[in-house]
Amino acid sequence: MTTHALSDNPLLDFSDLPRFDLVQPTDVEPAISHLLAENRALVERLTGDGLAPTWSSFAEPLTDGLEKLSRAWGIVGHLHAVNDIPAWREAYNQMLPEVSRFHAELGQNLKLFAKYKAIAASREFADLSAARQRIVAHELRDFRLAGAELPEALKPRFQAISEELAALAAKFSENLLDATNAFGELVTDEAELAGLPADCRQAAREAAERDGQSGWKFTLHMPSYLPVMQYADSRRLRAALYRAFATRAAEFGPPALDNTPLIRRILELRQEEAQMLGYANFAEVSLVAKMADSLPQVLAFLRDLAAKARPFAEQDIADLRAFAREALGLESMEAWDLAYVSEKLLQQRYAFSEQEVKQYFTEDQVLAGLFNVVEMLFGVRLKADSAPLWHADVRFFRLETPAGELIGRFYLDLYARESKRGGAWMDEAVCRRARAEFAAATRDGIQTPVAYLNCNFSRPVGETDGKRRPATFTHDEVITLFHESGHGLHHLLTRVDDLAVAGIHGVEWDAVELPSQFMENYCWEWSVLPKMTAHVDTGATLPRALFDKMLAARNFLSGMQTLRQVEFALFDLLLHSTFDPAGERSVLDLLNEVRREVAVIVPPAWHRFPNSFSHIFAGGYAAGYYSYKWAEVLSADCYGAFQEAGDAFDRTTGLRFLNEILAVGGSRPAIDSFRAFRGREPTVDALLRQSGMVPD
Ligand SMILES: [Zn+2]
Repeated sequence: MTTHALSDNPLLDFSDLPRFDLVQPTDVEPAISHLLAENRALVERLTGDGLAPTWSSFAEPLTDGLEKLSRAWGIVGHLHAVNDIPAWREAYNQMLPEVSRFHAELGQNLKLFAKYKAIAASREFADLSAARQRIVAHELRDFRLAGAELPEALKPRFQAISEELAALAAKFSENLLDATNAFGELVTDEAELAGLPADCRQAAREAAERDGQSGWKFTLHMPSYLPVMQYADSRRLRAALYRAFATRAAEFGPPALDNTPLIRRILELRQEEAQMLGYANFAEVSLVAKMADSLPQVLAFLRDLAAKARPFAEQDIADLRAFAREALGLESMEAWDLAYVSEKLLQQRYAFSEQEVKQYFTEDQVLAGLFNVVEMLFGVRLKADSAPLWHADVRFFRLETPAGELIGRFYLDLYARESKRGGAWMDEAVCRRARAEFAAATRDGIQTPVAYLNCNFSRPVGETDGKRRPATFTHDEVITLFHESGHGLHHLLTRVDDLAVAGIHGVEWDAVELPSQFMENYCWEWSVLPKMTAHVDTGATLPRALFDKMLAARNFLSGMQTLRQVEFALFDLLLHSTFDPAGERSVLDLLNEVRREVAVIVPPAWHRFPNSFSHIFAGGYAAGYYSYKWAEVLSADCYGAFQEAGDAFDRTTGLRFLNEILAVGGSRPAIDSFRAFRGREPTVDALLRQSGMVPD
């Protein structure tokens, strides 16, 4: 491996797309150190002149500098997430504290704060666009939340907390990934595979072969774990995987991978941080920048939803227990039976299995269907394109206007890999900006956005007539793909010219899922499904009769699922408000209290759900998990506008959604965008209707 000179460092090439063909772990330290030094000098220069700041003399150059750092560091973070081999992990972890320290410094730089305050107080301010005024307001808010107004004596402590929290979050996900990878269940008796679909057996055989073993290897990665839980007749196999999954990164495994002490420490530090900022708890801090007004408002929203879902959830669980007893001979339904019994009841009631459906959702057809939806709804064109990639499986596409002008581009990394973080997510590679200086190189001086879409779906397995069979996706996976595409469209279809409020930037956390959840609806549109399905063997499109059964099954167990989401959301909010991390009551005690309040099923006592709750301990959802349900209310209500128009592709409504919601990004409050699109306040009615929870 050669070491690049700084002038050739691929992380410092901002001319276009990330140089995944060139970048090496050894590039990280020199590039990031260089950018940190450059940014520190820039900040020094911009704050040291004693001149009254203007947008163009201050905000613009600062954005330029910080954008470079976030683009370069974004590439490193991306590679850490999709290619978590030791060299990248090490390179990422080496610079993470440095980057965190720099951002903490920025957040506490009183001179920067003073410059923003000066802009806010200047005569120029009134002439700034609404978007720029909002950026300044966000900066002032974020400065306060980052400790800028703290007494000098407290600042080092505040900074140390931020750094430790960033390191703890990274360690939390690493432990979880390592614990997930550490487990493998090798089955040597073929009889134990009874009930499992063929592609799942095939994948398990290939996994065993990669280890040089005969038999079938099952793992805790979703494409292996989920089918076992749903289909394996072997209760032993289900129980073994369930227990391993539920106790990942807990005290039962290697102490080095135990997330339990990390959880307490994270909560203690967040509480300390909140109090330093003058708030009672971290939930209050979290809500400052959200669409929701207050903690009581969100708690009331969740409890109201729980109350409305409860009768449906109780009916769900009673049905499952009765069916388990009568049809499957299971006197007690254990936690590892739940998915299996649900699938069997689903088949009995609606006479189809997800595996049957899966044969129709072949990769290329699904993508064609998705692209068709995007093109019809928003009047854009999608095309295959090429770019340097980090893995041979990754694909790359571009969005254009009908006249062929570039709007944005995106990477699509669909398959699960050992070195890839679990779940599905959208991330930004490049953000939209308008600058006169860009005019030479780009259309109209616009820097077009670029997104990463990442999923963890099964890769193609097996061959037919010597040809690799295409990957097939479950309907849930297709929904996930549409969901992430919604985030991608929010980022790519923005028309805001200022980076800090373009796309998903500056959008409140609890509103940011609106476009993603909105897009999920199109996985349920009959006018769309024939275009996105082609049976893996016959090429046939999804039959209407099968679709009707899927529709009938759509809200199967929706009461139970709603309560589960409310349980996680309440747990998260209470953990960050009423819970005392230094007190007697444990995190599990609190979880049990929440379950007593809202859950209809309680997992085994050894279940360690918090130890894998990455959303709140390693992601950005701390005291914000409720956002999923909150945004579902908004998205269901928005989709209702298309239903009222009588056409899922209604042109006027589609363009209004594009103009009022997607294009404006974070340039105005989410509630204003919602009102502009819908002409009224949001209501929960559409969500309850969509989930089949309307009392008769
Ligand atoms: Zn999402």
